[in-house]
Amino acid sequence: MAQQQTLHFETLLIHGGLEPGPSGATTVPIVQSSSFAHETAEDLEDIFRGRKAGQIYTRLNNPTTESLERRLALLEGGVAAIATASGMAAISTAVLTILRSGDEILSSSSLFGGTYSLFRDTLTNYGITSRFVDPIDLAAFEQAITDTTCLIFVETIGNPKMDVPDIAALSAIAGKAGIPLMVDATVTSPYLAKGRDLGADIVIHSTSKFINGTGSVIGGAIIDNGTFDWSSPRFPHFEGYAKKYRQFAFSARLRKLMHKDFGACPAPMNSFLLTEGIETLGLRMERHCSNALELACFLNGHPKVSWVNYPGLETSPFHDIAARQFSHRFGGALTFGLANQAEAFRLINALKLARNLANIGDAKTLVIHPASTICVDYSPEQRALLGVSDEMVRVSVGLEHHQDIIRDFNQALASL
Ligand SMILES: *Cc1c(COP(=O)(O)O)cnc(C)c1O
Repeated sequence: MAQQQTLHFETLLIHGGLEPGPSGATTVPIVQSSSFAHETAEDLEDIFRGRKAGQIYTRLNNPTTESLERRLALLEGGVAAIATASGMAAISTAVLTILRSGDEILSSSSLFGGTYSLFRDTLTNYGITSRFVDPIDLAAFEQAITDTTCLIFVETIGNPKMDVPDIAALSAIAGKAGIPLMVDATVTSPYLAKGRDLGADIVIHSTSKFINGTGSVIGGAIIDNGTFDWSSPRFPHFEGYAKKYRQFAFSARLRKLMHKDFGACPAPMNSFLLTEGIETLGLRMERHCSNALELACFLNGHPKVSWVNYPGLETSPFHDIAARQFSHRFGGALTFGLANQAEAFRLINALKLARNLANIGDAKTLVIHPASTICVDYSPEQRALLGVSDEMVRVSVGLEHHQDIIRDFNQALASL
């Protein structure tokens, strides 16, 4: 493992964390077992007490899942990674490891719908409140910190708003206040930037998206960068963990409490599929990004398209910050506007190649009308906060030939 840290990202995607399988197998074995037997009662006691490493029960860990976790930790440069059953499970488990009743989240107002619902509704029922502030307005963000703020949460590129906050600046604000910064990097994946390099203390991925890459698995991951000092008086519940586990304090508390107690573990088969899928992440992200830029440029020049929101366009207000943070790559998702909702529906219905569904990061090009689907339960004001308008279509640009993608949108626009 120590040697692996010197390998390049593309090599780690394929070899990172992989241990030789039985009989010379080149893929990670799928260990489809709920529990693991040990020779003696003393052995099992030692494992339970943490005196010895070993498997106990797949809700707690599993060799197939551990292989994926080792790879994710290496790719992000973190001290530990925990794979979960979904991206929402990753966010819930990570957030509940940090916050207690009476604590507050300072969150970006530009959020994935499920995260917004978790923060705004579900957690509020348990006494954890959230303030939503535009992450582009750094002064407002800093001013919104209170004595009870225990977490700052942002997305690398807001989904679906497609805004790009200055994560290093937010990290500086969080660091000054002694509050951990959690970054949902689903839309960029570790290929566009390591959360750690941007200043994130904890990184979240919905591995259902670009990390899987084929639309075949729901999964999530939490990466602990080991950068936050949990011995601060703001986190009295971390005191014992900070002393005993130091830079592993967060991941240790997460594994010992929330991950174990809520039980949102991945199935070994899904960990296997994710380990296979991630091998091609680098190649895929290059193509997602170049195809998205091609499509954005085409849509931008089309008379029936009223606006295009893609940080890769030089006219985007987020172009410079995205270029700096993500090494001149701008992701595989974009949004654009038509005249109104009826036209957006007609376009979606006229597309032949692009599939109309609620996902991003698939090899296939995907479209959705967010206002009537993923944000259907929100008021017009809440939709506006999330950057969702009635005439808006979101596209997750796939890996097809860019000319075929453009031809599909061109024929659909011509039918309006
Ligand atoms: C999809 C998504 C999630 C939720 O992940 P699931 O795997 O669907 O639970 C969280 N954040 C972002 C940015 C997403 O796109």
